[in-house]
Amino acid sequence: MRSMTGEGPGLAIDKSSAEASPHPALRATFSRKGRRTLRGNHMGRVAVVTGGSRGIGAAISKALKQAGYKVAATYAGNDAAAAKFKEETGIAVYKWDVSDFDACTAGLKQVEADLGPVEVLINNAGITKDGMFHKMTRDQWYQVINTNLNSLFNMTRPVWEGMRARKFGRVICISSINGQKGQMGQVNYSSAKAGDIGFVKALAQEGARAGITVNAICPGYIATEMVLAIDPAVVEKNILPQIPVGRLGQPEEIARAVVFLASDDAGFITGSTLSANGGQYMA
Ligand code: NDP
Repeated sequence: MRSMTGEGPGLAIDKSSAEASPHPALRATFSRKGRRTLRGNHMGRVAVVTGGSRGIGAAISKALKQAGYKVAATYAGNDAAAAKFKEETGIAVYKWDVSDFDACTAGLKQVEADLGPVEVLINNAGITKDGMFHKMTRDQWYQVINTNLNSLFNMTRPVWEGMRARKFGRVICISSINGQKGQMGQVNYSSAKAGDIGFVKALAQEGARAGITVNAICPGYIATEMVLAIDPAVVEKNILPQIPVGRLGQPEEIARAVVFLASDDAGFITGSTLSANGGQYMA
């Protein structure tokens, strides 16, 4: 019997003819190198999660650890939350400001000395400084752009050359539904999060031949401190009616998407924007 393989019912490829194919691209799919991109062993790969000690980032750090990665979770200043997270999970925590390029370079160097080369990077850290544009200050604008957009350069640039040299990498950026659709009172945040998507689409093209995928996830309303700080009456009356599934998302639901995009199984997915918003906005 000829062996059939593929990724699901609609994509059964005859492996023996693919290996003998005159088409280099089809042969490469089943070469030893090609197979590694379809199935492989990610146990022990080093993953860095920015803002990985709280909220969505904490769920991502835990899910990656559970999946077998060596995880470094970074944070900005909440030492108590980071210490509690480290004690509960055993995950290493590192403190630096993602809006500071030199701090990112030094911090990543330390992570690599402690754990090994960074193969998976989750750009998750983010803040809000909301206000209507006619009242928005320069500080509100620059803090959000620096933390939510410039951080992608600051964190990714220092690990990019290593990923290229090793011919493998996963960069996953946590953008937002509000970067896709825009949100009143969040011109700064929506601009930065839309910028994250542009970053992903351009960098994915540069990384593709080097085995590096670059993707964005756009969460909708997720039940973290950021959202649970909103008056429950407002959540009930104004927010939930906008979400077709009728509930907030859970951080673990974003984390599971990250684990998939980080895996070898997701090697053909790059430059994509995955919406995880309960049907609130279908981009
Ligand atoms: P949280 O406020 O719960 O956690 C934010 C994390 O980022 C913390 O670990 C924080 O560190 C860290 N952080 C903030 N600023 C910096 C900085 N300058 N340098 C380093 N680390 C920093 O946020 P969420 O979990 O809610 O959000 C995570 C990401 O998901 C963000 O990018 C956010 O924009 C995005 N998102 C969230 C949604 C939601 O509904 N919650 C919806 C859509 C997108 P520390 O603990 O020290 O403060």
